[in-house]
Parts: sequence; structure tokens; C-alpha cells
Amino acid sequence: MKDHWPEVADVIRECGSRYFKTYGSSTSLSQRRVMKDISLCRTAALGGHKDQCDKCGHEVISYNSCRNRHCPKCQGAAQAQWLEAREADLLNVPYFHVVFTLPHELGSLALQNKRLIYGILFRAASETLLTIAGDPKHLGAKIGFHMILHTWGQTLIYHPRVHVVVPGGGLSLDQTRWISSRKGFFLPVRVLSSLFRKKFLFYLKKSFREEKLSLHGQLRTLSQSRRWRDFIKNLEKNDWVVYAKPPFGSPEQVLKYLARYTHRVAISNRRLLSLRDGKVTFRYKDYSRQDSKRTITLQATEFIRRFLLHVLPKRFMRIRHYGLLANRGRKENLALCRSYLGTACLDSTPVKITNEQEQDKSKPICPVCGKGYMIRVEAIPKQPKKNKEIPCYLMFDTS
Ligand SMILES: [Zn+2]
Ligand SMILES: [Zn+2]
Repeated sequence: MKDHWPEVADVIRECGSRYFKTYGSSTSLSQRRVMKDISLCRTAALGGHKDQCDKCGHEVISYNSCRNRHCPKCQGAAQAQWLEAREADLLNVPYFHVVFTLPHELGSLALQNKRLIYGILFRAASETLLTIAGDPKHLGAKIGFHMILHTWGQTLIYHPRVHVVVPGGGLSLDQTRWISSRKGFFLPVRVLSSLFRKKFLFYLKKSFREEKLSLHGQLRTLSQSRRWRDFIKNLEKNDWVVYAKPPFGSPEQVLKYLARYTHRVAISNRRLLSLRDGKVTFRYKDYSRQDSKRTITLQATEFIRRFLLHVLPKRFMRIRHYGLLANRGRKENLALCRSYLGTACLDSTPVKITNEQEQDKSKPICPVCGKGYMIRVEAIPKQPKKNKEIPCYLMFDTS
């Protein structure tokens, strides 16, 4: 039955042209690229191969996937590899989960300056954590953590924030011992929140002075320095939201969390319920009502608009590692931590993720006779669409 349920690709194929009529002029090249890739993913346009059973002759044609990181169909492969690497990084200590959110007043500015604002978000949040943790009044230790940028809410609204996954403790500043954080408590969120705001606004003002911000449309007035000062003053007045989610019970739970959230796109195909009369209905969780499950219906054009808000700038890294876990020195730092903690590598069961590449390696058994193996017999070349059939969002060469 699930076969008949719509996917994001169906919404784009059916309503992409209509979306484009309204929003085409404000759709960036990378957003067009995402529309194009998702709509062509696993279709004849991308080519593929034919497998045949070596006993009964049963044939199966598979088309190539687009491998765009925003495509709901293409998330598995990179994830499995990434997780294996993270598993080797885990320490046998409690882990905490802290979230730094961007105030909603910054939403439009962030949308016009994604690379810059997300970069400042990462920088301000990571410096805040390293500073407060290093302060002897708090933990007095050098810590390490993973940070993951998320920009979507459950109904696809724009809500940028970074999630931090952090071991509860760190190396003493002279690197001679491990300092554990208190049970169930990592760092005071009010202290984190005020330093985060200060640091973020420092870098934001610097970007303004250096004329690195794009200010278009309604934001154009902000280029006048008086308006800009008022804008900043308002941001300084409010509390910024940093909150601690319930800590992870075990390092295995950390992996489970990372497995679920790190390589997600704004919405999974599983949540789509129907595409009818130009409207999309999908499931969402209402966190304000004890996570109750609800459904929402949007015009398909609005659905596409919201989906595309979450497209990241080209090659932007949405998962980053800091402090002891920064790419440089991570191995040595972890070895040192483990020597003080008195544990060797973590003893955990490997996370099982089905991975396209893994499946490719072993020959699958024929689903019809159950005896033969499916053998690749033919490569199918890409079949470009004829000019007449090409919807407008595919007309731009974004390769
Ligand atoms: Zn794809
Ligand atoms: Zn067979």
C-alpha cells in the first residue's frame, strides 16, 4: 500500500513548474539543483543497470540515485560510513545534549546569508562551550564535542539551531587527568546563553562593518546604520535560547541519536500521506502538545517553498567537531582521555545500517526462484529527456 503514497519527488514532478511560476526568481541555483536531482533520482534519466538471475532468467532494472544530500531517497550510504568513524570516537562516560537556537528575529537575515550566519552560529556556540567549560568556576577542563546544524521544524518552518553532543567531562587544563562533570549536569545554560548571544552579535556586527551581509527586499533598510543599531539593540535585549535536552543514557544511545539525526533531510518520504488537488498532507509531531501526532495540509507550492528553505550552501559542512574531537589531534586526544579513564576502546555492538554500497558487494539472491543469484548483465546509459518534456526547473544548467 505504501507504494501508492507520494514522495517528495512526486510533489516536485507534479507541482514544480507551478512553484517556479511564483517563486522562480527567488530560487537559488543550489535549490534548482536540488529540485532537479530529486525529481530525476532513480529514473531512466540517470541511467542504471540490469540484473538477471543466473538460474531462472528473472530480470530487474535499477536506476541510479542522484546522491544529492538533500534527497530523501539518498541518505543511507554516507551515513553508514560516518557512523563507523564516530563509533571509534566514543568515550565510556555519560553524554550530554545541548541545543543553541537562533532567535526568530534573525530568520530572514539568515535566509539571505545562509553560509555566513550558519558559520557564525557554529563559531559562537563552539567558542561559548569551550570557554565556559575551560573556566575553573565551572568545569575547568578542555572538552570536545560534535555539532550538527538543523534548520527545520516539524512542519518544515525555518528554525536554525545547532545540536551539540558532548561527553560529560574533559582533560584538565594541564592535561594530566580527566575531570568528570557532575552527575546529570553539564554546564549552566543561562551562562551559556548570555555568552553565546554576546559572541554571536560580536561576529554579526563585524560582518556588517565589513559589508559582508546581503540585505535585500524587506531587509534593505537595515543597511542604514541607525536601523542596524536598533536591530542589534533589540537582539541584545532578549534572552537567547540555549537548552539542555535529557542526557543520553549510554554511549550507544549517542550513536542511535547520531544515526537518526545527522544525515536527515527536512522531511522523510515516510511522513507524506497524500498529494491531491495540488495539496500535500503530511504527518508531524506537535511538541507543544506532548509530542502528539497530527497532520497538516499545505498547498504543494508552499510545501516545495518550505522544503527548499533548508537547502544548504554548496559544500557547507553541517556536522563539525571541536576541541578534543576536532579532526586535528583527535586520535591522540582520545587515547589520552582513555588512558586517564582507565578504559580501552568502547565495547559496543556495531550499529547496523543498510548501506547501498554494502548491498552492491554481495550478490543478491533471486526474489523469484530463490535459488539463483542476480548478476549484472547490462549497463543502461542515461536517457536525457526530450526538450518538450523538460519542466522549467530542469532547464537551467546547474551542473
Ligand atoms: Zn536521490
Ligand atoms: Zn531466479
